[in-house]
Amino acid sequence: MASLSHSGQDACLVINAGSSSLKFSVIRKDGATGLEPVVSGQISGIGTAPRFEAKDAARHPLADHRWPDGENPGRSALLHHLLDWIAETLTGVTLVAAGHRVVHGGTRFSAPALVTPAVMDALEGLIPLAPLHEPHNIAAMRALAEIYPGLPQVACFDTAFHHDQPWQSQTFAIPRDLTAEGVRRYGFHGLSYEYIAHRLPQVAPELADGHVVVCHLGSGASLCAMRGGRSIDTTMGFTALDGVPMGTRPGAIDPGVLIYLMREKGYGADDLEKLLYHKSGLLGVSGLSNDMRDLENSDAPAAAEAVELFCHHVAKQAAALAASMGGLDALVFTAGVGENSTLVRSRVAEKLAWLGVALDPAANRAKATRISTQESRVPVFVIPTDEERMIARHTLDTVAVAAADRAA
Ligand code: ADP
Repeated sequence: MASLSHSGQDACLVINAGSSSLKFSVIRKDGATGLEPVVSGQISGIGTAPRFEAKDAARHPLADHRWPDGENPGRSALLHHLLDWIAETLTGVTLVAAGHRVVHGGTRFSAPALVTPAVMDALEGLIPLAPLHEPHNIAAMRALAEIYPGLPQVACFDTAFHHDQPWQSQTFAIPRDLTAEGVRRYGFHGLSYEYIAHRLPQVAPELADGHVVVCHLGSGASLCAMRGGRSIDTTMGFTALDGVPMGTRPGAIDPGVLIYLMREKGYGADDLEKLLYHKSGLLGVSGLSNDMRDLENSDAPAAAEAVELFCHHVAKQAAALAASMGGLDALVFTAGVGENSTLVRSRVAEKLAWLGVALDPAANRAKATRISTQESRVPVFVIPTDEERMIARHTLDTVAVAAADRAA
């Protein structure tokens, strides 16, 4: 087996556990403050036909393993496989902690938390808020705690960055007793926005205190209004369904549609969940694909309409967020579509021309960091996101603080 040797390096295992897949990366400490990705990969087909794949930092394949027919190892055995593979392959790297991407922190978790039995129990209580994600995040923590009880684990929340938004950004106009129960807007993609908040002052120091709209456009998509690196408002709400259309989710939809579907078409909660999480968005409108690349390469009118609808809502929400925070000093695109789609960036910018947004087509095509013209009143940037690095940083910091507290 190939081995990647890094002598005497402490590293963090980053885990993003989903229903049938588990994405991972190993990020090692590099010097006093730096972090360097070593490997990344995923275990897919959990529960059906598992497959383990890993790549090095330059994205060269290191492993691709499938289990023989009839053998279907469970989540715990697959995590075992991952840890054994890391131990055999990454010689010289010592895992000192594991960091988990956790979708929902509810009202309680406003910062990364060291995983303890009490924290895992508290996370169980949040399952009703994120039934499709939270159980898998917790299952990965429990499995890892069993296999490797000495390894500190840290939960990093996608909601935490939005925790201190103004009241009016967090509150639905519904009776207060429901709000008090936790029926409120939380927002997601917080680890991505937090990473951008760290990067932006390096890219454009003059924007350190600016009003910035960040468009995280991936297969899930949302926008965030940031002032001075803090979240002021965001398009996702109680769940990751609100806001702009996504690969398979519709974004904001008149709730009256749901009442209509229940009354007139007999939809139950499961049917609505399937419609809203898996059958809508780019896929539903195009009838072809949830992948922006497929739609951009298609001649079908419905594919072009899906792209247009997506861009329409992204621009509309960007303007709404500018109003929410009272200004717009910069626009940032990030995540799969935001980083890679010249077409989406250019259509969104055209729709925001009235706000003073003007792209430089050559810079946009070249995926330059700054893609607006010198004259553009609102500068526009493309900044690749790195949620894994953010999780590793939080995890290593949280573990260091806990160790210092114990020593004190
Ligand atoms: P996730 O939300 O799963 O993390 P990503 O941020 O990785 O998603 O984004 C994945 C999406 O990015 C893909 O579904 C695809 O639509 C889009 N994408 C990736 N590369 C390109 C490209 N070159 N052009 C247009 N869209 C792209």
